[in-house]
Amino acid sequence: MSECLTIASGAKEYQREWRKKHPDYNKKWIQEHREQYTVCRRKWKQEHPEHFREYNRKYRQEHKSQYIQYTRKSHQKLRTQVLEKYGSKCVRCGFSDVRALQIDHVNGGGIKELRGMTQHQYFKKVLADIEGKYQILCANCNWIKVDENNENHRFLLRGSKKHEIKH
Ligand SMILES: [Zn+2]
Repeated sequence: MSECLTIASGAKEYQREWRKKHPDYNKKWIQEHREQYTVCRRKWKQEHPEHFREYNRKYRQEHKSQYIQYTRKSHQKLRTQVLEKYGSKCVRCGFSDVRALQIDHVNGGGIKELRGMTQHQYFKKVLADIEGKYQILCANCNWIKVDENNENHRFLLRGSKKHEIKH
């Protein structure tokens, strides 16, 4: 090991020990410098995309159940925010059981937009929208609208084919 690496790993070890002795220091610093921390973190992510991907992959593997729980919670929170933004009920019939409410593209094209996007990214986009591109429909009204407007005809056919294979 070169001298630099020895010093670097020694410094890392020292940092690790120091953090163990001062567990709240980092948390406190982040809370007090929230804005600076976010900017630095974003910059670091952009400059080290491979490192960040690898870090995420490892973290997911090592904390699988926590990760699933966290993702589910954050997903639910975002979904609730989206539903609240649009009044938490179907714009056609007023149905308000959130379990069957869906985000609908007023002018169609939802499936196309969703392609290549995670649900998280999609929710963020819907939340940020100020052009009125989206609305809330219940599952029934959504399917009726799809039929009325002949939207996503290919998607419907593909869905029914899958259904046939299962039986
Ligand atoms: Zn409805």
